[in-house]
Amino acid sequence: MLEDKNQERTSLAELGEFGLINHLTKHFKLYSSQTAKGVGDDAAVIEASEKQTLVTTDLLVEGVHFDLSYMPLKHLGYKAVMVNLSDVYAMNGVAKQITVSIAVSNRFPLEALEELYAGIQLACDTYKVDLIGGDTTSSTKGMLISVTALGKANKEEVVYRNGAKPTDLIVVSGDLGGAYLGLQVLEREKQVFKVNPQSQPDLDRYTYIIERQLKPEARKDIPELLKELEVKPTSMIDISDGLSSEIMHICTQSKVGCKIYEEKIPLDPQVISTCEEFEIDSTMVALSGGEDYELLFTVSINDFDKIKGNPNLTVIGHITEENEGINLVTRANQELALKAQGWNSFNE
Ligand SMILES: [Mg+2]
Repeated sequence: MLEDKNQERTSLAELGEFGLINHLTKHFKLYSSQTAKGVGDDAAVIEASEKQTLVTTDLLVEGVHFDLSYMPLKHLGYKAVMVNLSDVYAMNGVAKQITVSIAVSNRFPLEALEELYAGIQLACDTYKVDLIGGDTTSSTKGMLISVTALGKANKEEVVYRNGAKPTDLIVVSGDLGGAYLGLQVLEREKQVFKVNPQSQPDLDRYTYIIERQLKPEARKDIPELLKELEVKPTSMIDISDGLSSEIMHICTQSKVGCKIYEEKIPLDPQVISTCEEFEIDSTMVALSGGEDYELLFTVSINDFDKIKGNPNLTVIGHITEENEGINLVTRANQELALKAQGWNSFNE
């Protein structure tokens, strides 16, 4: 978990930019027949198709979005790809290609970039997406990574945030709050390590939530499952900033209200036990903790029979008229107006 100071160090200057890109990308495979040309020319070439193209970009900045004192570079590479694929799946699409651009200071040797790209490659191989380009450059301080993902979907299959209708059911995949709690555990261990560098953390009790933070998986399987079940969501979004802010995006853009039931929010037992240990409320963690990369969507009530009982999906509430507001119904049966307490990159 903590940095090994005795690694081999090859200076990036020894390779030059083209040598570096070639070195880092030479083992990547291409999966899509639509990728006519990947890395290696002035631009990548993608075959045209009948489908619509989805495009999404994320920029991750060291010290703002990630902390390398507990985030291994291989995991960082993997996660940087996941956050983008998650947005393609949230449109009900299939991710096909990515580009990756990085800026690094001279603090990073070649071996560090090899680790980063090993994570990117693992993500590409697991999710069958092609790395087709990008750029590497130097930065005066720290590391920046920008990933762009390209995806495909038939025009009639694309799901937007603005299609939710009153009486629609609100559904979430997986469980919530784990990634945020994993971060709390890692932050705590970092503080312990600062005081006592000899201490080796015992993280056995937190394996699930730490994995949720360090190695999230985008829900490629959910659009596939919905297709199988013959369900087309009326709206969909991925949960990157917490349930509260994501349901607000859906409600605002769809001009509807909602009721979410506290008792229905899916939580892993490790989330519940860690919340008890940290003395924080598990509902708050699900509502406001970020980075779970689950999918939140609405379906017509007529589709309830098709999704009910599916272990990947939980119905957590329903859509109402706009004037009823965006509400959480607590276990005590109280109605509270939800606020967007989700993580906001300009807040701090
Ligand atoms: Mg998103």
